[in-house]
Amino acid sequence: MLRALTGLLAPPACLACRAPGTTPLCAACRRALRVLRPEAVCPRCGLPRPCDGGGGGRGRGCPAADAPWARAWAPVAYTGPATALVAALKFRGALPCASLMAAQVAALAPPGLLAGGVLAPVPTHPARARRRGYDQADVLACALARRSGLAVEACLTRAGPRSRQLGAGRAERLQDGRLHLRCRRAPPSRVVLVDDVHTTGATLRAAAAALRRGGAAEVVAVTWARTL
Ligand SMILES: [Zn+2]
Ligand SMILES: [Zn+2]
Repeated sequence: MLRALTGLLAPPACLACRAPGTTPLCAACRRALRVLRPEAVCPRCGLPRPCDGGGGGRGRGCPAADAPWARAWAPVAYTGPATALVAALKFRGALPCASLMAAQVAALAPPGLLAGGVLAPVPTHPARARRRGYDQADVLACALARRSGLAVEACLTRAGPRSRQLGAGRAERLQDGRLHLRCRRAPPSRVVLVDDVHTTGATLRAAAAALRRGGAAEVVAVTWARTL
């Protein structure tokens, strides 16, 4: 509430470069976003081609060759003003960011990607979402629903840390959080997973695997930004 009021009182400014006038991004920062055209990226991992490190296929191979999704895609690279916009969505309650992100996803999505099924946000850890007062993937999915006509369905749930793991190392806790994604109920046959950033893909993999185990025939992973 306080954040919303502050947002109303503060003069509009670019969330990346702080230039006054336009929010969430000024024209210069919008132009500085690196767009990943669908035809220029690998449909499995969303990285610019060649995704295997080059060498005419002699590289290490597509990092998502064995991923449980049919396709992973993001419209922009997670670099420059994109990192500022994601940080604003995550930590400063800048929900208008979600509207801009959803507009870009809807405008640049490859044909058929948003053509059926439901939008399922990848749930943030519940303690984190409680602290922030919202779940950024859910906010992004709702904004995308308005643009795509697909409904949002909270197919997945993420368990909180168990008390006996309080002493566990950070890596173990992260691993545990990822493994505790599960379906609330039987998911629809096609699910479009929605999150803000695709980095290693570990969380998206856990989410897609849970949906496939739950009975979804096709899962695609859509994020706004892709770490290169
Ligand atoms: Zn700017
Ligand atoms: Zn690839």
